[in-house]
This record gives sequence, structure tokens and C-alpha cells, in this order.
Amino acid sequence: MADPQLLSSVRALVGREYGHVYAWDAVNAPMIRHWCEVIGLQNPLYTDPVAAAGSRHDGIIAPPPMLQIWCMEGFHMNNYAPGSTSENPYEVLGLIESYGYPSVVAVNSELTFERNLRLGEKLYYTTRLDSVGDEKTTGLGTGFFVTLVMSYFSQTAAGDEKVGELLFRVFKFKPAHAHKAEPQASTEPVPVAAKRPKPGMSDDTRYFWDGCKQGQLLIQRCTHCATLRHPPAPVCIQCHSFDWDTQQASGKGELYSFVVMHYPEVAPFDHPNPIGLIELDEGVRLIAGLVGVNRDEIQIGQRMQVEFQTFDDDLALPMFRPLAQ
Ligand code: ZN
Repeated sequence: MADPQLLSSVRALVGREYGHVYAWDAVNAPMIRHWCEVIGLQNPLYTDPVAAAGSRHDGIIAPPPMLQIWCMEGFHMNNYAPGSTSENPYEVLGLIESYGYPSVVAVNSELTFERNLRLGEKLYYTTRLDSVGDEKTTGLGTGFFVTLVMSYFSQTAAGDEKVGELLFRVFKFKPAHAHKAEPQASTEPVPVAAKRPKPGMSDDTRYFWDGCKQGQLLIQRCTHCATLRHPPAPVCIQCHSFDWDTQQASGKGELYSFVVMHYPEVAPFDHPNPIGLIELDEGVRLIAGLVGVNRDEIQIGQRMQVEFQTFDDDLALPMFRPLAQ
């Protein structure tokens, strides 16, 4: 049962309107073109001024799904355009969380459009806390469906005109397992160490992971034309043969590329977490964690040697360590 105090506090917030959030820029051709490029949209109404001028729209229009984008905060968090409200339309989530519902998952995002947007229009939106449902239990856990509605307006000389709406719904909940494992007041919960996520294994890839358990780095080899391939695949990319066996790699190679993961920090990985793309001497490349490296000294082309580490008493993974110069 939900806490009655929580329910009354939540009910007091439902229907609340939160202030204007303004667009940094008017609806403009460069942002539309970039967005169409990224999404892969080729409709000339969005990007070709001549074709658009000859259409019934009499000029370029913005792709409707861009509605939400015009008023976004930009690259840095909470960096909203001048004049925007500093109110937090998601305050109800913090309130629910303070009563022991820590998790959240987005469940609906629905856009509604009143009309097309044209170049030069300046938008803003307001947010309404539309509803908070009764406490419900789902497969994820127990909590509340919270629905917010953002209304988008275009600022025109004749007055502001509504151009669309975004309905956004989340489920704010206490996870099912945490619910069941509620500790007694006198017992401290025992923290469970996060396990290393297991790679996906199938009949096509099992040989590789079995090899790691034996301390062998196995590469798939076409038995028809002897071409090596990695990652594992069912068919030879050269001759299309389905027949293959494996070759044990020397485990030596060079660093072809790398990233160092800083954020988000996900257990059980150490951070920063260096990950390499290794080009093996046999010619194929594979991705693996790097060990024994200093972030400032990692170099493309550096010689590396595989070693196998076992995690959680079960999972053997190839890791690469720089070879001594
Ligand atoms: Zn082949």
C-alpha cells in the first residue's frame, strides 16, 4: 500500500503547469538538414528550397518529429535558452522517489502535430503534470505511471499559436526484487557484487569462449579457402563456404585503436576503463579490455599480448597487455 501522505502530496501536484522553456534558435535550415542527414530522410520538402517552393507548402517545412528538438537544452545539462523557467517539471518524480521508489523507466512518448513548422518560427513549450495513476504492480515492480504533457507554441505577431504536443509517460517504481528482499529493521542488507556481463553465446561463437577457458585464442578459419574471420560468422566472406574450423592465434598483435570509458561508471568495471581494438598478427581484429596500461602512455601500434582472466569463477575473457619494449 502506498503511503497516504505520498498520495495526497502527489495529488496536490497533478494539474500543475510549469513555465516556458524557449528554443535557442528559430526553426532553421541547417538544423533541419543535419537532422535529415542523421536520420536518413531525403524528402525534398525539408531540404530542397526549390522543390519545396513548388509544393503546396510553398517553401521548406520542418520534419514534424523535430518538434521536441527545437527547445532542447543543448549539449550541456540544463542549459536552456534565456528566459526559460528554472522550475523542474519532474519534481513529482523526486517526491515519489523520496517515498522509496528509486527506479524509473520511460514507457510512452507520443507526439501530436497541429500544423507544419516553417523556417523562422520561434517556439517554446510549457509542461503540465497530466496525471499520476494509482499504485500498480507490473513485472518491473510496484509504482506509479506519471504522465506529463508538453505543449509547443509558436510565437507569432498575432499571438502564440499551439503547434503540437508531446505526451511523455514514465513508470516510477520500486524494483520487484528489492520489494521481495525487504530487510528486517535489525538486519543490514548484504550488498551483492555486480557480476561481469556475459557475452552473447551461440553455436556460432561458443568455440571462441570455450577456447578462452582453455587459455587459447581461437580464430575461425574457412576450410575451403583458409580465410580467417573474426568476429565469428556462419559463412566465409571470401568464398561463401559454410565449412570452418579454427586456428589458434599466437595472441600477439598491435593496438589498432582504443577508447577509454570514463562515464557512465558501470559496475563491476574499473574506471577509467581502457578498451582496445587489437589487430592480431594473423590479420584479424578483435575488441578486448586492456590491462597494465597507463592512460597517458597508450599508443596506436603498440605491441600487445593476450592473457586470459577469469571473472566470477566462470567467465574467461581475453585481455591484452602491452608487451615489454
Ligand atoms: Zn572461404
